[in-house]
Amino acid sequence: MRLFRALRWSATSLGAACAGALAAGVVEAVGADGALDAVTTIGFIAMVAVPILFVLGMVARGLVAAWRPRETVAPFVEDDGGAPALAAWIIVGLAGTALVSASLFLATRLVASHGVFAALAVGTTDGIVAPIVATIAVIASLPAARALTRVLRRVPHLTPRNVFAGAAVLVVGGVAALWFLVVAPRLGPLELGGLWSPAIAAAVAIAAHRFRYSLVAIVPVAAAIALAIYARFAQPMLVLDIWADRPLAGLAVEHVFDLDAIRGSVVFTAFAPTAAPNAAHPDIVLITIDTVRADHTPPYGGGAEMPAFTSLAARGAVFDWAYSPSNVTRRSIPSMVIGLAPGRVKGRVVGWSLRVDPRYVLLAERMRAAGYDTAGFMCCEGFWGQSAHTGLSRGLDHLEIDPIGTALAGKARTWLERRRSTKPLFLWMHILEPHGWTQASAEPRNDAERNRYYDQSLARADRMLAEVMIPLAQKPPIVVVTADHGEALGEHGQPFHSTDLFNSQIHVPMVIAGPGIANLRVPETVSSVDLVPTVLDLAGFVPPKGADIDGVSFADLARGTRTGDKRAGVAFAEMIKDRSNPGGVVAIVDGGWKLIEADGKDALYDVLTDPHELKDRSEDSPAVLARLRALLAQRVARMAQSPFP
Ligand SMILES: [Zn+2]
Repeated sequence: MRLFRALRWSATSLGAACAGALAAGVVEAVGADGALDAVTTIGFIAMVAVPILFVLGMVARGLVAAWRPRETVAPFVEDDGGAPALAAWIIVGLAGTALVSASLFLATRLVASHGVFAALAVGTTDGIVAPIVATIAVIASLPAARALTRVLRRVPHLTPRNVFAGAAVLVVGGVAALWFLVVAPRLGPLELGGLWSPAIAAAVAIAAHRFRYSLVAIVPVAAAIALAIYARFAQPMLVLDIWADRPLAGLAVEHVFDLDAIRGSVVFTAFAPTAAPNAAHPDIVLITIDTVRADHTPPYGGGAEMPAFTSLAARGAVFDWAYSPSNVTRRSIPSMVIGLAPGRVKGRVVGWSLRVDPRYVLLAERMRAAGYDTAGFMCCEGFWGQSAHTGLSRGLDHLEIDPIGTALAGKARTWLERRRSTKPLFLWMHILEPHGWTQASAEPRNDAERNRYYDQSLARADRMLAEVMIPLAQKPPIVVVTADHGEALGEHGQPFHSTDLFNSQIHVPMVIAGPGIANLRVPETVSSVDLVPTVLDLAGFVPPKGADIDGVSFADLARGTRTGDKRAGVAFAEMIKDRSNPGGVVAIVDGGWKLIEADGKDALYDVLTDPHELKDRSEDSPAVLARLRALLAQRVARMAQSPFP
């Protein structure tokens, strides 16, 4: 009998959990491509949401029951059924919490604004302020509650039920107001769209606890879960689509199943490159340096101390106008090694990085499939480490990660010195140094210091480049050096990157040197989204083309077999809204003319004569404006095209 009651008790929560999961699933499945997609989405969400909601529901009900609400509330209820003292105590409790929270915020701001924003200073201040304010709140609570009770006695209908309902409204409304008016504007761009479905799930689950027929929800939920499991094995492409496009269902997919295993069940036809006739397959070394704006490096007229980079440029091809596809690492790096515009690179933001859709084939994978030894020497665990599961290290047979630049360069050098392989080599190194240029120095106080500190970080990156070049002198490879994006140093009101698409943030160095590479300057515009076809071309393979590649090879410009034209070449860049990027900006460069569209507003610049983009030319060059607008529209339209078969 007791077992039956317990089962019935928990069945209520199970039904409610299913109803909640179903609601969240339906919300996310809106806009799905067809019934299978929609039901599978619901199934994946239910796999994770049902157990969570079930356990939470049981715990919450257990806690409420343990409080024995009737007995607890009884002493507060007066003869007329009102409970003003209960209302008073709840108000006093909420006010005390708000007081502690506000004083901690003010204390932190006070300490931070006095120029000592150090974790220890803030922590110490908060540690002193919190107990003082909490003690005051406790001492003041009894008299305050008594006084408030007297006032509230005059308010009618203050039954316990109404008091709790009112308190719930007060808390939810207060938190929402605080969030939208105070917290959100201070935090900047935040991706919180994914929180809607869980909120709806929780709300429906709570409501469903009071509805005795909610157990019926088990039937469709079980069917959806069964279909999701079927899809995992029979429809891996669909499952990866869901993973990439739906926040909650995607989380469920990667937590319940192994993404790499799903990838294993997808057949990639013919991604291994075809060798070009009679072509040699030289070693290729790709060095991407984080946060380098071209104009601060010597080959582009900059004053940073970069002897290794300068000597590479002195014997190779220097691309005057190379553009990164975005202004933040997690968008541009995947785009560069996949060969697609950032908007076509599906994935999920994890930490500061992007977990890319497993269906993409990365440059290193193509090189490995082409018979190359592949190695990666990377700065950052969060981007290339095994635990982050970003997929960005796929194809790199040998991988070493070290956040300390000198150590990383040393590892690469040692590995190269010990390497005894007859196979051609593809090595990719990502140098982080300039990204943290403010951390290695004091906080810059003026433009001169800002430029100096930044240039010093470029010099540190160059020393790493120099170290890696030492063992490569034996058998020179083709070396490609570029950056994932630039850095505003005050231009257009911006102190860093990830904020706009002006040249300071996306005009990057691009230098290629080595066997078969001409010694020249290339005036034509190129994009680093062209790297995949270009590197394959340089390695002696037919550069890939088609729906899964946006870039085009510029190897001919590097070899000097085609003369570049300063009024030719197209580069497209875009900002994708996510945790630290406001999105809403796209740009296109066509042979020195650059159109930036920010929040629907156009601005046209002639970057050949106005590289800092100070004069909007849209009024006086309507024909150019129309041409670039059409070109931009074409690129944006291509975004909708799936890169997958
Ligand atoms: Zn970066």
